[in-house]
Amino acid sequence: MLFPTTIAGSLPKPEWLAEPNKLWAPWKPTGPDLVRAKRDATILAVKIQEDAGIDIVTEGEQARQHFVHGFLEAVDGIDFANKVEMGIRNDRYKAMVPQVTAPLRLKGRVHEFEALIARAHTGNKIKFTLPGPMTIIDTIADRFYGDRVKMAFAFAALLNQEALALQADGIDMIQFDEPAFNVYMSEAADWGVEALQRAAEGLTCATAVHICYGYGIKANTDWKETLGAEWRQYEQIFPAIDKSPIQQVAIECRNSKVPLDLLSLLPNKIVQAGVIDVASDQVETAEDVCATLEAVMKHVPKSNIIATTNCGMAPMFRDIAEAKLVALGAGAELARQRFG
Ligand code: ZN
Repeated sequence: MLFPTTIAGSLPKPEWLAEPNKLWAPWKPTGPDLVRAKRDATILAVKIQEDAGIDIVTEGEQARQHFVHGFLEAVDGIDFANKVEMGIRNDRYKAMVPQVTAPLRLKGRVHEFEALIARAHTGNKIKFTLPGPMTIIDTIADRFYGDRVKMAFAFAALLNQEALALQADGIDMIQFDEPAFNVYMSEAADWGVEALQRAAEGLTCATAVHICYGYGIKANTDWKETLGAEWRQYEQIFPAIDKSPIQQVAIECRNSKVPLDLLSLLPNKIVQAGVIDVASDQVETAEDVCATLEAVMKHVPKSNIIATTNCGMAPMFRDIAEAKLVALGAGAELARQRFG
């Protein structure tokens, strides 16, 4: 089937789980109620994707507060009590971040709970997202390893441990989110892709990397203003990714200033093309989705294209996010009729 559909990863959380339209929103229920609420929200996230015609669904990242810290909470060797201020993404944001103070080790499983719930409630393929090693080390302070690359590879080993376990849970695709790749392009090419390979070592399920220009939050839209008319960062990293065994690349294409001809630098990859803008509340039409797929088809063979969202939808309004899912499903179907 042409143009199978998926989403970048996250969906907004229901208001009974956490405050909507907010990153890092605190949980509303506590204790056993929180566990049940996360379970219910995960089932709901799967259901609305299925109903919208999404082929490769996710658990909507309903059980984690943030895409990086959801992983870090399960890691030993991190001091969460004493956070320090750090400039992240090359000082685009200031954030209070935890510190690595001892050798890193997983306390146990990280995402088994929500992976098994999603697996039990859908017959569709499931994608599961994990933060990439370079993005993790850009979000945490180092007081132990004394070397960014060494710390990244320590995290990569832990990511690999969890990725293999998710595969055993029945997950069909592991996607590593590496928004840091288009901020530190030469480091990404020097060792970032290699660290990613370490994280994906031994996986037999599908593997993907999502690189992006971020959610539609103000710090990101301001940063994008500084990037000029054409966003060519990918030019420096795509050749390294294309040579790697990571099978798929997920990037934004809708309302994006990424020149789509850069996609021709990925002849050996399946491209997950973002056809839904998550930085705008305007809901795409099926025709809009179809037009973006047609533009991508000029640079990527149509059999190698998956239709997805530009980025996670966590900070969006629920109704808008759901309408965008429907547009994604309908637009991919229209494209199948038109170009099949
Ligand atoms: Zn993204």
